[in-house]
Amino acid sequence: MSKNSISSLTLPQLSETLAAAGFPAFRAKQVYGWLHQKRVAAFSDMTNLPKSMQAWLEENYTIDTVSVARKQVSKDGTVKYLFRLADGNCIESVLMFYEYGATICISTQVGCRMGCRFCASTQAGRVRNLTAGEICAEIYAAQADTETRISHIVLMGIGEPLDNYEQVMNFLQIITSAEGLCIGMRNISLSTCGLVPMIDRLAQEKLQLTLSVSLHAPNDPLRSSMMPVNDSYPVKTLIAACRRYQKTTGRRISFEYSMVKGVNDAPQHADELAALIKGMGAHVNLIPINPVDGSPYTATDARNVQRFQKLLEERGVNATIRRRLGTDISAACGQLRREEMREQEKN
Ligand code: SAH
Repeated sequence: MSKNSISSLTLPQLSETLAAAGFPAFRAKQVYGWLHQKRVAAFSDMTNLPKSMQAWLEENYTIDTVSVARKQVSKDGTVKYLFRLADGNCIESVLMFYEYGATICISTQVGCRMGCRFCASTQAGRVRNLTAGEICAEIYAAQADTETRISHIVLMGIGEPLDNYEQVMNFLQIITSAEGLCIGMRNISLSTCGLVPMIDRLAQEKLQLTLSVSLHAPNDPLRSSMMPVNDSYPVKTLIAACRRYQKTTGRRISFEYSMVKGVNDAPQHADELAALIKGMGAHVNLIPINPVDGSPYTATDARNVQRFQKLLEERGVNATIRRRLGTDISAACGQLRREEMREQEKN
């Protein structure tokens, strides 16, 4: 029987599990503290537990950890990690330093099955979901390596967070818990390619996080040509779900719009986009596409990105051009992992 990940359990779940096994109630907080505050990698390091309990934990559970397989540091200070998981699979995280604090961009799956045509992470499909404990471990490892306190999290690395719903919800509960890293939910952004039923489910959780929707195109033919998910959940259906989400949670949505030269960057697209999201008070993040191998897309030049932003602003839509960090270190998510996979294929 394979062992379960103990670091993926929320404190209530851990309490229930330990109580069911006959341990006194106060043990749950102790174990949780070892896992998420002191971040030990072995049950034998949990020195205030009886040896018999350490042995029981060892027999039934694992603690998820990641190790640094590769690390790149950009001139602007951005750090990109290729983390290796216990089963040998690799994922990526990126640590960025902004005035408001250190922000980590983390992965939620090994690979991705959404198939966006411009994205390196999805080229080889999805291998498996990450556990909540592995997602936490990305943050713990980056924090230990750089000795900085991470204050902001974006779920924008490899994978589709809403395609790994339960583990991502557990992760959010753990990382925001007072007995864990205690990061404010408002300092967390979750990015989705637009899985409508999952957006509705997330709305019911009424979390204070920022939902970021990867829109990238204002109409169906264009969006379907870039993102296969649009065939299942077309633009109007998606925007309706976003409006419901805002109503239920009281939180504004932000839209990601990666700009591709000659594809989605014409003035008419700015018009269409503005009409589509009018009155939502939403925010649009513009970013020139990061060209990846095997993709036909090239980036819109800076002048046209600015023109697009101005057109949106004139139509009453808030838009910012994302500062690109770490452009000198194969920045687009999924690229390091692809390189590593190619090297392994060679050997
Ligand atoms: N699956 C989620 C989160 C991971 S992708 C989602 O789709 O939102 C994070 C963001 O990076 C998304 O907005 C995605 O569309 C964008 N992205 C992926 N590859 C990119 C590339 N090569 N250039 C620019 N943006 C890219």
